[in-house]
Amino acid sequence: MGDVEVLSDAAVLLRDDRIAAVGPYAELRRAAAGAAVVEVSGVLFPGFVDCHTHAVFAAPRLDDHQRRALGETYQAIAAAGGGILQSVRDVRAAPEDALLERTAARVATLLAHGTTTVEIKSGYGLELAAEQKQLRVAGRVAGRVPVTVVPTFLGAHEVPPEYRDRRADYVRLVCEEMIPAVARAGLARACDVFCEPGVFTPAEARAVLEAGRAHGLTPRLHADELEGAGGAELAVQLGAASADHLAAVSDAGVRALGRSATVAVLLPATMTFLGRRTQAPARRLLEAGAAVALATDCNPGSSPTVSLPLVMVLGVSQLGMRHAEALTAVTVNAAAVLGLAGDRGQLAAGFRADVVACAVRDWREIAYWLGDNRVSAVWTGGSACPPSPALLSLDSHVQG
Ligand SMILES: [Zn+2]
Repeated sequence: MGDVEVLSDAAVLLRDDRIAAVGPYAELRRAAAGAAVVEVSGVLFPGFVDCHTHAVFAAPRLDDHQRRALGETYQAIAAAGGGILQSVRDVRAAPEDALLERTAARVATLLAHGTTTVEIKSGYGLELAAEQKQLRVAGRVAGRVPVTVVPTFLGAHEVPPEYRDRRADYVRLVCEEMIPAVARAGLARACDVFCEPGVFTPAEARAVLEAGRAHGLTPRLHADELEGAGGAELAVQLGAASADHLAAVSDAGVRALGRSATVAVLLPATMTFLGRRTQAPARRLLEAGAAVALATDCNPGSSPTVSLPLVMVLGVSQLGMRHAEALTAVTVNAAAVLGLAGDRGQLAAGFRADVVACAVRDWREIAYWLGDNRVSAVWTGGSACPPSPALLSLDSHVQG
């Protein structure tokens, strides 16, 4: 992860939706005589892959933000009806087309920050119709914004209020009704669970992920975010594609991830936004041999950011990652989480022509400027994306 190949005076040759060649500028100009040429001063990166977002939501959670500033904990805010359940009320009430407008505006800003492939989870519906609505919106966004969307079913994100006193019934509903319906309609590729004390237990998470797998959904897990509960160990036992968060992972969990193909997805913007003093032990995970990815966790409660470059800066400054490790974490390793390692995350012949240009002199600046978007142009599938979609959609993004 600490080793990236950097070329100078280079060119990338695109043909249709693929990268045809990468090499010395003069050589490729000769080889591709007659091709349209776009001169770029700066640095080209592979399109960034955001492998963990909750980008379909209806409204910001400003009251949560203020209550946390006044000293209330995440758990206390959730117990008082805020937190995820506030977003559930908002999403259930939102008409599908309104949800699509807000989500498309948000995803356009992700794209403007260099993200060309984005995973989007459901989990603010917590009833079949509203979960399906969220997943349909995730799928429809790709028709509005030129990104690739990989949808994940997260029906076990929280126990909905109407099942408070009969949680086993809710787990059964997720396993026996929601998962088969979502899989049958092709609405999701993966299945995820929020495994955390006070949310879903490891036994419940296992039941949901095994049901998902039986219906062709790849298992992933929100694991050991705030208090350790054996989430990382469970993810490895199940052969999950990823164990995400991990701020409270145990030593045994670190060792298990180090010996496995399960990717450790770290979300430093979340712990920063929540005002926590702890972060996932990235260096210990890397030293144990774990593959580490970084993601935004874009969501209205704990990580309202659309910027993978910002997350890379936090990866370096808060997690002790090297610039090269942070870059690998949002490209090669994030693509692996989504089962796309052979297709995304590299500027190499045969890979999809998703390319990001940045107005920087040194490639490490992409993981340096704190909150300054240096992305100057983006191509997805070989086509130039419209300039500054973030500005065009600012209104609906902010008011959304
Ligand atoms: Zn999450």
